Amino acid sequence: MVSIFYSETFLHHETGWGHPESPERLRAIVKNLHQSQWASQLLWKSPTDRSPLNWILQAHTQDYVEQVQSIALRGGGQLDPDTPISSQTYEAACLAVNAWLDAVDAVLLDRHPAFVLARPPGHHALRDRGMGFCIFGNAAIAALYALEQPGIDRVAILDWDVHHGNGTQALVENNPKIAYCSLHQYPFYPGTGAAQETGIHHTILNIPMRSGSTVTDYEEKFQNQVMPFLRDFNPDLLIVSAGFDANQDDPLAEINLQPQDYGQFTTHCLSLNRPILFGLEGGYDLESLATSVEATIAACCGEFEFHK
Ligand SMILES: [Zn+2]
Repeated sequence: MVSIFYSETFLHHETGWGHPESPERLRAIVKNLHQSQWASQLLWKSPTDRSPLNWILQAHTQDYVEQVQSIALRGGGQLDPDTPISSQTYEAACLAVNAWLDAVDAVLLDRHPAFVLARPPGHHALRDRGMGFCIFGNAAIAALYALEQPGIDRVAILDWDVHHGNGTQALVENNPKIAYCSLHQYPFYPGTGAAQETGIHHTILNIPMRSGSTVTDYEEKFQNQVMPFLRDFNPDLLIVSAGFDANQDDPLAEINLQPQDYGQFTTHCLSLNRPILFGLEGGYDLESLATSVEATIAACCGEFEFHK
């Protein structure tokens, strides 16, 4: 079984005509999952409506959070040239954080994998500034939240979105209990993510990928760098910042993955034998996005069973 955290509130974060990070992304994923052969193995869950503010403030400044809220309250505006805010963005972004926190609770409790189908995404969000379609640092906030749960001493975040998660890295790199590993096209937006960026505790692993890379290149990195790094860190929980914009069909990048390749990456992650949650980051070609999420979930629905 796989828990899926989703709410129609996530569709109310509107980005305007022609923006790639559109509500249609979630609609395409949800429609495809309902029709998939895995539909009977999905546990659809609504995020709770607790206030996530205390957790958001672990990662972001109060001034920034109030800025997001006030732009939404006055009907919307631009957080940065790429990142629009609509009247219901603050509500959606808070509920997205809740969904990631609920997924932490769920995977620690019942040990099934979870997938968070939320937006806005988060891995570019900095402590005091949103950028790159991202408002709040969902993955980093989830990791900080997980560390407050009993028996959780180390959390790893794997980010396979095609862009470097500069926000997540900045939010966690000084915390020795959180490891961050990213594979991303480089050099590319947002400009960070050189291999030399390892963090003061050596808990950061950046794996730059050349434009035109294929699954063969990714597989080599998983076997020789990603998995040894994750095994060495020995996390109690693995959070995957799951963006699907490294697909060949994606309009925003130049990596040549196919949707089924994400099933292969997922199988590597499952081999760690740790509670695991996936949360949506990027992915802008609707068809390959939907089939990539399905491939990730299909791998989770395999004969997968983990033991701690
Ligand atoms: Zn991306």
